[in-house]
Amino acid sequence: MNLYDDIAYLKGVGPAKAKVLASELEIRTVADLLDYVPFRYVDRSQLSTVATLTEEDNFVVLKGRMSNMQSVATGKFRERLTVDFFDGTGILQLVWFAGTKWVREKIKPNMDFFVMGHPTVFNGQWQMSHPEIERAENGDFSTPFMPVYGTTEKMKKSGLGTRALARITEGMVASLPDVPENLPDDILAHFHLMPRRKALIAIHYPESLQQLDQARMRLKFEELFFLQLDYQYARVQRSSRSQGRIFAHVGDHFHRFYGEKIPFPLTGAQKRVIREVREDMRTGRQMNRLIQGDVGSGKTLVALMCMLIALDNGSQACLMAPTEILATQHFITFQRMLDGLGINVELLTGSVRAAAKKKIKQRLAEGDIHFLIGTHALIEDDVAFHDLGLVVIDEQHRFGVEQRGKLWAKSTVPPHVLVMTATPIPRTLAMTVYGDLDCSVIDELPPGRHPVRTYHRLERNRPLVFSFLKKQIDAGRQVYIVYPLIEESEKSDLKNLQDGLEMVQNYFPRPQYQTSMVHGRLTADEKAFEMDRFKRGLTHIMVATTVIEVGVDVPNASVMVIENAERFGLSQLHQLRGRVGRGADQAYCILMTKDHLSSTSRERIQTMCATTDGFQIAEADLRLRGPGDIQGLQQSGVLNLRLASIVDDEPLVKATRDTVHDLLASDPSLSSHPLLQHHIDNSKNKMLWGKIS
Ligand code: ADP
Ligand code: MG
Repeated sequence: MNLYDDIAYLKGVGPAKAKVLASELEIRTVADLLDYVPFRYVDRSQLSTVATLTEEDNFVVLKGRMSNMQSVATGKFRERLTVDFFDGTGILQLVWFAGTKWVREKIKPNMDFFVMGHPTVFNGQWQMSHPEIERAENGDFSTPFMPVYGTTEKMKKSGLGTRALARITEGMVASLPDVPENLPDDILAHFHLMPRRKALIAIHYPESLQQLDQARMRLKFEELFFLQLDYQYARVQRSSRSQGRIFAHVGDHFHRFYGEKIPFPLTGAQKRVIREVREDMRTGRQMNRLIQGDVGSGKTLVALMCMLIALDNGSQACLMAPTEILATQHFITFQRMLDGLGINVELLTGSVRAAAKKKIKQRLAEGDIHFLIGTHALIEDDVAFHDLGLVVIDEQHRFGVEQRGKLWAKSTVPPHVLVMTATPIPRTLAMTVYGDLDCSVIDELPPGRHPVRTYHRLERNRPLVFSFLKKQIDAGRQVYIVYPLIEESEKSDLKNLQDGLEMVQNYFPRPQYQTSMVHGRLTADEKAFEMDRFKRGLTHIMVATTVIEVGVDVPNASVMVIENAERFGLSQLHQLRGRVGRGADQAYCILMTKDHLSSTSRERIQTMCATTDGFQIAEADLRLRGPGDIQGLQQSGVLNLRLASIVDDEPLVKATRDTVHDLLASDPSLSSHPLLQHHIDNSKNKMLWGKIS
């Protein structure tokens, strides 16, 4: 047998089953099956007895004899087959509805069997339906741990249930050929890792729990190690290959802005991040940097100052935002802050009229526009820059890899790239997925901010909530009331919103109270108009869907009410809450939910009430949802991890990251690590994130 032999030739498989294995699990070769690890094990050395079963028992193994087989017809070709199983302490009734032919052949009286499965009580009698059964030949098992594999309905129908799979893997392991080692010797020795072949055998058929633990450890290490290698190798390659513009000096624009325009001192974190960016941009390597900073930490200002450095070095810069509202808001902020410095800033979004657009494009190509701010419109093919030196992408998680790649193509020497995100990435993820991005963290809020106080309230508390809002508004503050919007049911969501608006206007009658409403169905102009009224304090209440989620800045707003908060994810709740608490006043976030919450909803709400720290929230989010739902991770190898978990294996993530880092530092081209070189050559994960990030 060879590792890459067709699985069909393996004992117990054959062409029909091989086809099912390929279509259901993409298992085609012996090596593939070897990689298909059990998701749990049954410890057959731990026998239960019928007399001591409890309803809490999930899966038990019993040993005894069968008698009293009875069949009741339940259809033309169907029957319900029952057998009494007796282990000397009590009787358990075994029940089958399907596959009864096989059971009839298998079961013999006066012979010991092991019976495994989930026991239940039915009419006061212990029962087990569709148990796994196995002859207890010498009264014992060959190995104490029986692997349990994931199977699908189709597999079960084709005779590939977990027990059948186990019989196949047992044969495979018994005649397993050499399995080449794929980790360097010094790493194996340093981390006391089990050899690969041994680990693969032990993960299917461990001799003991300790051995299983070591096998798992070895295989997890391997997974994370190669994930790290893919990312970090790509980064090393890119930084050695791609030349970047050299922004050697900081000039007049930067200094004048710094000296005359900023009404407050920068925070230490802002200063540090600007320094890191400056360092990057003068090395001659292309910058790819991610700036993480909680909502309200002042990322926009950092972006602006980095753009000034580009300008001082004769380049244009652009800022790309995910929504028109945000782009417009940035544009207004930039115009205000740059007033009098002779810098030409323009806004390009989908709703700029054709004639104006044409003019902007022309001026852009001539170099007359210094800073261009916009949405996706920026990356349209006919938008050409004179000399684009820096691209800033705000709220990165909304942009796809391709879109970023398009921006990159807008210039012969690639522009430096700064990606800003307010959605903190849990450390373990940052260590892997962003292994090829440099990271800066703005971990300090401007002084004088009080953490937002967050409360959970139910519908029956609404009168109190509204009277609280009234007090806030009467004291001169403004409030947001946000409704969920889920695309599939946009219509009914809009109705929710309108009902909500009506209820709000009943309680807060005009003309004393003014209300704005913003949702996805409005045109950009209408949205901008309403946002502007709210921003200027002409309206007191903003009733909105999540279109306001990202980046909107109204410092006078002090309360964020989130309706149906159980329908939002944690990072969304955190984003929304970040819309308040931007001024000097105490701010509040009120999470309205229905009475009965699922356990994950409850944990989300509790997390929100307990902390305002974005990193803690991101970690909780990762724990509750797993990495599968985190935006932008879909193409990353993180989701293909079979054994390792980005959530639970932080120490291993860190160890592999550091190991790969050191290895590449001393051998960047892997020339003295042929095994690893080989892996890279065959890696499917090549250039995961395109050229940018
Ligand atoms: P975000 O990181 O969420 O994008 P912004 O850049 O929108 O945050 O900044 C939030 C608010 O804080 C803005 O009103 C901005 O003017 C203000 N701000 C930024 N930096 C400072 C600072 N160092 N001191 C005081 N206020 C600041
Ligand atoms: Mg922002």
